[in-house]
Amino acid sequence: MKKVLVTGASGQLGKCFQKIASEYPEMELRNFNSSELDITDQNRLQQIFSEENPEYCINCAAYTNVEKAEDDEETAFKINAEAVKNLAEVCKNTGTVLIHISTDYVFDGKATNAYRETDVVNPINVYGASKLKGEEYIRQILDQHFIFRTSWLYSEFGHNFFNTILKKAEEGATLNITTSQTGTPTNANDLADFILQLIREENSEFGLYHYSNLGEATWYDFAKAILEFSGKIDQVTLNKSGYYKTRAERPTYSVLDKQKLQETFKKLVLHWRDSLEDLIINRFRKI
Ligand code: NDP
Repeated sequence: MKKVLVTGASGQLGKCFQKIASEYPEMELRNFNSSELDITDQNRLQQIFSEENPEYCINCAAYTNVEKAEDDEETAFKINAEAVKNLAEVCKNTGTVLIHISTDYVFDGKATNAYRETDVVNPINVYGASKLKGEEYIRQILDQHFIFRTSWLYSEFGHNFFNTILKKAEEGATLNITTSQTGTPTNANDLADFILQLIREENSEFGLYHYSNLGEATWYDFAKAILEFSGKIDQVTLNKSGYYKTRAERPTYSVLDKQKLQETFKKLVLHWRDSLEDLIINRFRKI
C-alpha cells in the first residue's frame, strides 16, 4: 500500500483527490486540511512526516487569492514559497516524493504561442511571484519532485469560475465576461486523476511539467460553454466585455504547451470543452 500525504486537502484540488481515491485501492490517501496541518509550521510538518512516513506528498496547500495577495505579499510568500521550502526539506530528509502544483501566472502573458517549460518566467503579480519562488526552492532542494504548472482550475468543488457562472445562471443574471485573457480551463478532477496514475505507476520522470486541458479559450468562451453544456444559456444575458480591471494584473495569454508532458507520460489529456461537458453531464446525472 502506497501512503500518500495530501496537504490542503479541503481545497478544490484536495477534494478532487478524495473523490477519486476509491479508484486507486493500492494507495492510502492521508488527507490533512489547513487546521490539521499548517504547512508554515515546520515542527508540525516534521511531526506529521515522522508519524505518517509517506512515500509521496501531494501539496495542494496554497495561498490562492490572487487579488488579496497584492496587499498581503508577506503571507503569500510565507505559504507559497517559505512553507514549500520547508516541505521540500522534510521530503528530502524522509525520502518522500513531492508532487507540487504551480501556475501559468509565472509567465507575463506577452507570448503568442503556448508556453514551454523552458520559456522565460516573469510573473506580473504577487501570487505568481510567490508560486515561482516555491518552484525554485523545490528545484534547489529536492531531486525527487514533480512540479505541475496548471491553469484556470475548476471543478464542482469550492469557489471557482465554473460554480460562479452556474449560480449566476440560477439568478438569471446579466453577465459581462472578458475576452481580454486567453488561457486553458483545466478540470481539477483530470489533474488529480493524472497525478494518481503517475503514483500508481511509480513514475520517476521527475521534473517540471505543464499540465492543463488541451485547447484555449477566453473567459467569455469558457462562460458560454458552461452555460451551453448545462442547458442554461437562455437563462442569462451573456455579453462580451473588454479589459477587466482587477487589483492584480493577469497575463493576457497563458496557454501552456503540453508537448513535454505528452511525450514523457503518454497519457490522454482531454480538450477543455470535452472535459467540461463530461463534468456537467456527470454532475447533472448525479442530482
Ligand atoms: P484552493 O484555494 O481551493 O485550496 C487551497 C487550500 O490550501 C485550501 O484548502 C487552504 O485551506 C489551504 N491552505 C492555505 N494555507 C495553508 C497552510 N498554511 N497550510 C495548509 N493548508 C493551507 O486552491 P486550489 O485547490 O484551486 O489550488 C490547488 C493548487 O493549484 C494550488 O497550488 C494553486 O496555487 C494551484 N493553481 C490553482 C489554480 C486555480 O485556478 N485555482 C490555477 C493554477 C494553479 P483554508 O481554506 O483553510 O485556508
